[in-house]
Amino acid sequence: CHDENGVDLDVMRKISEHPCYNKDAQHKYGRIHLAVAPKCNIQCNYCDRKFDCVNESRPGVTSEVLTPQEALEKTRDVLKDYPFIKVVAVAGPGDPLANDETFETLELIKNEFPDVTLCLSTNGLALPDKMDDLLRVGVSTLTVTLNAIDPEIQAKIVDHVAYKGKSYTGVEAAEILIKNQLEGIKMAVEAGLVVKINTVLIPEINKNHIIEVAKKVRELGVFIMNIMPLICQAKFTDMEPPSNQERKEVQALCEPYVQQMRHCRQCRSDAYGLLGKDLSQMSEERRNVIKM
Ligand code: SF4
Ligand code: SF4
Repeated sequence: CHDENGVDLDVMRKISEHPCYNKDAQHKYGRIHLAVAPKCNIQCNYCDRKFDCVNESRPGVTSEVLTPQEALEKTRDVLKDYPFIKVVAVAGPGDPLANDETFETLELIKNEFPDVTLCLSTNGLALPDKMDDLLRVGVSTLTVTLNAIDPEIQAKIVDHVAYKGKSYTGVEAAEILIKNQLEGIKMAVEAGLVVKINTVLIPEINKNHIIEVAKKVRELGVFIMNIMPLICQAKFTDMEPPSNQERKEVQALCEPYVQQMRHCRQCRSDAYGLLGKDLSQMSEERRNVIKM
């Protein structure tokens, strides 16, 4: 169903109720993250795999992995008590597209809750290959972490990628990753998904390059870009994270090309509730107050 300007009304509704895609929705509508995806198909140099995927997560946090059935039961309980939650997402703790359980879970959710917005975040390596599955299960909002579009720069961020049964390193790995990310983003936009880009700001590596990423994603029709500060861990433990000022400057440079998200809370991969008010971390007593 479209309005007189040809805008898809269902997509408009989903954006207006998505706390990450629309800052006005953040105090009104919530999301639930289902931690059903433990495996990952790449190794980022800033990622300590003992914890949640850095792409959408807080540092040093380990979410308990659920089976698809457990995730459905959790969703049932949560949506019954907190009807302001309109978005159900898989964001880790590894890469959702590297785990069949992601699709199994989203399918179960879609069958029981056809009106919720299904959301997913990924490093994008498997995006072109998994696009049909994403569309089949009904994902409508998608986040891709895109840290560089220049393979020389990306090669400093990713240690290796595992693709179609082979492991790649260096610039070769970076080229495969970027090619799939850009192709996947293009396919997703063309298929009508609303796409968000997460870019980790690593001052020593991609600070001056992020504007090129912004220009590229504008060309691809990306809806919003979320520039996240580096969390210094794993191989990047000794690096300096960006200051708030530095991040604001990069966001201001990118704003003319693509809308900037400035209210990201770097949630856990099992967070639920409003952004910044994670019910999974509250006492039962406090949760009951919010229910009423
Ligand atoms: Fe870690 Fe996420 Fe990178 Fe995979 S994509 S290595 S889980 S940060
Ligand atoms: Fe939204 Fe950021 Fe939380 Fe992801 S990590 S759900 S983008 S606020």
